[in-house]
Amino acid sequence: MSETPYPYDAPASQALFDRASAVTPGGVNSPVRAFRAVGGTPRFMVSGRGPYLTDADGREYVDLVCSWGPMILGHSHPEVIAAVQEAVARGTSFGTPGEGEVALAEEIVARVEPVEQVRLVSSGTEATMSAIRLARGFTGRSKVIKFAGCYHGHVDALLAAAGSGVATFALPDTPGVTGAQAGDTIVLPYNDLESVQEAFHRYPGEIACVITEASPGNMGVVPPDPGFNQGLKDACRKNGALYISDEVMTGFRTSRAGWYGIDGVQPDLMTFGKVMGGGFPAAAFGGRADVMAHLAPAGPVYQAGTLSGNPVATAAGLAQLRLLDDAAYDKVNAVSAQIQALVTEALSKEGVAHRLQTASNMFSVFFTDRRVRTYEDAKRQDSYRFTAFFHSLLSNGVYLPPSSFESWFVSTAHDERAVQKIADALPAAARAAAEATA
Ligand code: PLP
Repeated sequence: MSETPYPYDAPASQALFDRASAVTPGGVNSPVRAFRAVGGTPRFMVSGRGPYLTDADGREYVDLVCSWGPMILGHSHPEVIAAVQEAVARGTSFGTPGEGEVALAEEIVARVEPVEQVRLVSSGTEATMSAIRLARGFTGRSKVIKFAGCYHGHVDALLAAAGSGVATFALPDTPGVTGAQAGDTIVLPYNDLESVQEAFHRYPGEIACVITEASPGNMGVVPPDPGFNQGLKDACRKNGALYISDEVMTGFRTSRAGWYGIDGVQPDLMTFGKVMGGGFPAAAFGGRADVMAHLAPAGPVYQAGTLSGNPVATAAGLAQLRLLDDAAYDKVNAVSAQIQALVTEALSKEGVAHRLQTASNMFSVFFTDRRVRTYEDAKRQDSYRFTAFFHSLLSNGVYLPPSSFESWFVSTAHDERAVQKIADALPAAARAAAEATA
């Protein structure tokens, strides 16, 4: 049974969670799903259609997680499902090259101008891990700069001061990551160019790359200050390091060409995942052709994957990307703005101090009255208010990310009915946030 003060009203989910907890650590296959930051029983979902998820107890939720970003067309989009069915009927994995992966690579290269060549992998973690290895192999240097609050997957060297689940659980360090693995990682405060200059000054000729979320969404949404990404790029160029823009979350979501389509800062390498997989495990890294030429079998830096470029995953990703035209982005942006306005209105009406921060159609709410520019700022919010807000929305059929350190995501499928359901649930949630105590 739930050990939290939240009403237990999901018996089928609870039964599944009990079974899961017996055979899987913490009952989940990715930590944030466990609801530990907010308490209560994680909902086990059985189906998704458009903007809705249905749980094992038969309750329907408007989904504001969208599988943590990928489902930008909503769940079970008929054209994506048809592409998957067609691909499955031809076989599920060949372990050889296939046309689908070429077409997906061409689509990425066509959309994102700095990407001249791309390598497909199966997860965002693999993409960032491989990009870091390539940067080290290309430059012959070992140190990596990352920013506190940025999450780049569970790559050993990049788990230091990471956001997302690491932020949710306030793990300063992860046991199992050795000093050797993390020792070459320099963690700096986000949005602080001066500390970047200092690091380059302190370690001349040693820094292989700077990796940053193109616009962070893993400490909540904390967009880069104007000029921050360009400053990183300039510092890298001046010091012979590579600038890696992690667009696993923002790629093909914040615009046709991701965050690059918004700020136009040219990375040397980029990483992608989430949206490009259409709900399947597909991710990628790519960038300058002269750098990518160092990758095996063209070059000496090894990287491989049994399921890389999987025909079903590439079919899903390609179908989704081809549906993401300007009209689709206009729609996601418009519905996002509508929901943002509703959230602001409800919280303001109850006098709850909050900051709603956005990066195109990504947004999140911080329960603080100060602008959030860094991970330290993000940690200073009144998270207990989020917990009350979250549970009130959940009990009224709105599914938010179960942590205040995550972006909310919407889709083209979020229609008037879905928005109305959110609008109806918000006043009580805002009241719960106002009444919450630490
Ligand atoms: N990079 C960013 C910016 C992410 O948001 C994530 C996942 O949330 C990753 C990398 C890791 O991707 P994956 O979970 O597919 O390994």
